[in-house]
Amino acid sequence: MIPVHTHFKDQQSGLVDPFGRRIEYVRLSVTDRCNLRCFYCLPKGFRDFETPEHWLSFDEIERVISAFSELGVRRVRLTGGEPLVRKNLPDLISKLSSLPGIDDLSLSTNASLLREHALKLKEAGIDRINVSLDTLKADRFKSVTQGGNLLKVLAGLQAARKAGLNPVKINMVALKGINDDEFEDMVDYCMRNAFTLRFIETMPIGEAGRSGSEHYLDLHRVLERLGKSYDLIPGVMAGGGPAKYFQVKGTDFRIGFITPISQHFCETCNRVRMSVDGTLYLCLGQAHSIALRPLLRDGISDAQLKSVLTDAIRLKPARHEFDEKPGQLNRCMSQTGG
Ligand code: SAM
Repeated sequence: MIPVHTHFKDQQSGLVDPFGRRIEYVRLSVTDRCNLRCFYCLPKGFRDFETPEHWLSFDEIERVISAFSELGVRRVRLTGGEPLVRKNLPDLISKLSSLPGIDDLSLSTNASLLREHALKLKEAGIDRINVSLDTLKADRFKSVTQGGNLLKVLAGLQAARKAGLNPVKINMVALKGINDDEFEDMVDYCMRNAFTLRFIETMPIGEAGRSGSEHYLDLHRVLERLGKSYDLIPGVMAGGGPAKYFQVKGTDFRIGFITPISQHFCETCNRVRMSVDGTLYLCLGQAHSIALRPLLRDGISDAQLKSVLTDAIRLKPARHEFDEKPGQLNRCMSQTGG
């Protein structure tokens, strides 16, 4: 078994949910749009995007994150959709990175626009990035992403390294019958480039997620398989997420395994998500949510906002039910913020 994470129950915070979990991490979706269409993420032909009037402005986002930071949140990850399609993103990053309580500001991207943006992101205050990359084969990449260009992603990754973004973590969704012949190749690529590699199990999030789940692979099998080619010893990696790391002996290279299905880590969940329209989602896999946008636009005070956030955390459910109720969630990953 991949061991579960330690739970720091004894730490004090303004945001502790009914299960004793301390919330210190916000995943912030800055757009629900994406320039790729990974088949397990966004349904083909999906058009139900938020209208721009509903997008939180950078000032509104800053207000919410500032309130969160005063309540003990110290990590923020910008995500989407594809965050790099949101115009003037470095302006938002500068605002967030100057908030006193936020000491870890990171970004998840598909990297296809990263070559143009890497340096500006770094200068604005992004410390580290995660990049989705499911395959190193150009034709396969085009098919998985429904039109993407692998060369742009690889160029983006090199630009990230040159800009000094560190660490760069590659997120590879393990897909049976699609990329399961490439795990060792991805390990070698990441080792050569000093990137950290993380494998992720597919989740039945929305219609697209359910079609991805037809390719589900239990990562315990992937770990077993990689153990035959590499001398893997338990490893650690800073980041605040649920990955369980192994290290290739004698190197600094680490491989993480994120197992929401085969061994969920809900009991250590430390995060909430805010979508581009200002909906606060308490769990990736459940409907529990609070609409913050109307409150912000109706002139809520800072004190009231903090009180709303504190109350919202009380609604955080114990866990997702991807296994028991795979059909229950109809919003897609890019709507919630992946
Ligand atoms: N566009 C950015 C990116 O590519 O990283 C951020 C958003 S994307 C939704 C975040 C991550 O969610 C990606 O690594 C993607 O592979 C993953 N993802 C999307 N749908 C998923 C699903 N059904 N199961 C598991 N991971 C999923």
